[in-house]
Amino acid sequence: MGSANGRGEADFSARTRRLLAQRAAFRCSNPRCGALTIGPGATAEDVTDTGTAAHIFAAAERGPRGVGGLSDAERSDISNGIWLCAACGRLVDSNAGNGFSGSLLRSWKDLHEHRIRMEQGGQSQPFGWVQTLEVLSHYILMPGVVRFSKLNLLFGMNNSGKSKLLHILRALSYPHLLMDNPANLSCVITWFDPELRKALVEVRGRWLEYRVDDRRVALPPRPYRVLSLGPEAYNGRFFRWKASSVSGIAEFLGVDLWVARTVISNMPSMLPGVIDCVAFCGDDVRVSYRADAFDQEKIGSVAVWFYALAVFAELQARVEPTILVLDEPFVTLHYAAQRHVLDLFESATWTFQVIMAEHSLVAYERRRHGWSTTVLVPEGESRSRISQKNEDIERIGDG
Ligand SMILES: [Zn+2]
Repeated sequence: MGSANGRGEADFSARTRRLLAQRAAFRCSNPRCGALTIGPGATAEDVTDTGTAAHIFAAAERGPRGVGGLSDAERSDISNGIWLCAACGRLVDSNAGNGFSGSLLRSWKDLHEHRIRMEQGGQSQPFGWVQTLEVLSHYILMPGVVRFSKLNLLFGMNNSGKSKLLHILRALSYPHLLMDNPANLSCVITWFDPELRKALVEVRGRWLEYRVDDRRVALPPRPYRVLSLGPEAYNGRFFRWKASSVSGIAEFLGVDLWVARTVISNMPSMLPGVIDCVAFCGDDVRVSYRADAFDQEKIGSVAVWFYALAVFAELQARVEPTILVLDEPFVTLHYAAQRHVLDLFESATWTFQVIMAEHSLVAYERRRHGWSTTVLVPEGESRSRISQKNEDIERIGDG
C-alpha cells in the first residue's frame, strides 16, 4: 500500500481515516464484502483494526483531459477516500483502474454510506443500484459489459445503439416492450436490492425467456424502476410556455398532475440549500430560491425542471432501486444550465442512479468526478462495440 500510483492510505490524516471508518460503521464498503474491520484485540485493552482508507481516484488516473486530475490536497481529502477491509484494499490497490475505476469506488462508498444511514435509522425499505448489463447477443450491440456507477455517461453517434441499450434497461422492468417489436437478443443484468441479484432475458422470435437468479419466471418481478426523459421533453415549446406551472412540470416528467404536485411540494424539504418554499396559485407554481443558489438570469426555469426531476427520482428511490435515464438532455440547454444540471446530479445526497446518453462529448468534458463513461464505438457497417476505455473516448471525440 502507499505506492505513488496506487490507492494506498499514506497521505490521509488520522482524522480523515477515523471519519471514513466511522461513517462506514467500520465495515468494508465493497457491496459484495461488507466485512467488519474492527474487533477485540489480543488483550482486554486492545482492538484489532483491519480496515484501510483507500483512495477513490489514484494518482495514476490523472488523464490528459483532467480525469481524476486531483491536486495533492484533493487527493487526501475525505471526499477521495473509501473505507475497505484489508483484503479488498489490496485487491483494489493492485488493480487500480483495471476493473475498479474511481467512479465505481465512489458508487460503492455512496451505496454503503446510504445503507448504513438507513440501518441506523432502523429502516429496512428496499433500495439498490443496477451494477452491470452484459450483452450476450444483439443485432446492433456486440457482446460486451457495461459496468454502472451511480453516475453514468453513455456516448455514441446516431444509430450506434444508445437507445437500444437504454431500451434493454427499461425492458427488464417491462418485458412486453421487447415483444412489441421482437428482435433476437440475450442479456444479463445484475443489480443490488441490496443483495446482488441477476436476471437473464432472451428473445427468440416470438419467444421470451426470463430468469431471475437462475430460476425461470412467468411473471417477471419489476427489479428496479426506470424513469426516462427523451429529447421530446426538452424541446423549446416547453421552455418558452410552461415554465413554473404544475401542468408544465407534469408534462415534462410525463406524470399526472397530482404526481407533479407531490413532487413540487417536496422540493423545499429535499433541496434545503437551494429552495426556501414553493406556493401554488392555480396552475402556477412560485418557487422562492435562496438568493445565492444560482444565476437566475441564465438558469431560471431550467432549474425548476431538473430540480423537480431529481426530487421525483429520489422519492421513488426511497422505495425501490431507481434509474433516471436522460436521453440527450443538453441539446437545448445554455452552457451555465448544463453545468448546473451536472452539479445537481453530482450531489452525494441522491440515491438514484443517473444514465445520461449524449452524442457529443460536451457532458463528458464538463463533468466533475464520479461519472463512469461508456462509449459505443462503431465497428463495420452497422454494429457497435461497448467500451469503457479512455482511448475510445478520445477516438469518438476526434470523429
Ligand atoms: Zn472487503
